[in-house]
Amino acid sequence: MHEYAVVSELIAGLLPQLEPHPGRVEVVYLKKGEMRVLSEWAVKSAFEILTKGTRLEGARLEIEPVEARIRCPRCGYTGKPDYLDDPEFHFIVPVITCPQCGAEVEVVSGRELYIDRVTVESPAPAQNGA
Ligand SMILES: [Zn+2]
Repeated sequence: MHEYAVVSELIAGLLPQLEPHPGRVEVVYLKKGEMRVLSEWAVKSAFEILTKGTRLEGARLEIEPVEARIRCPRCGYTGKPDYLDDPEFHFIVPVITCPQCGAEVEVVSGRELYIDRVTVESPAPAQNGA
């Protein structure tokens, strides 16, 4: 499944960054652009499986959507692309054109996929004695 490869890469990138921060990882916040065609369910289940046996085991994954925005170099239109309501979008890779003049546009946002932040539980104070 495509989601497994994606999530596996994200986890591999995150684990070394967590090393200086002791404590249990509570929540991992993932930013996902609207234009990334990924099943949220599959991402979450891949996360659960792939974190088993790592420091991230038991952490909750929160997916935060990033709105798609485009900018047209010809007429200056900025805003949402208009194909997102098209169910076909999920099966094809669209050429994105300006809803006003039809020129090919620049994608400003919507293709993101990265771990934005992580919350780590503060480690319990060290116990004295045994
Ligand atoms: Zn335009």
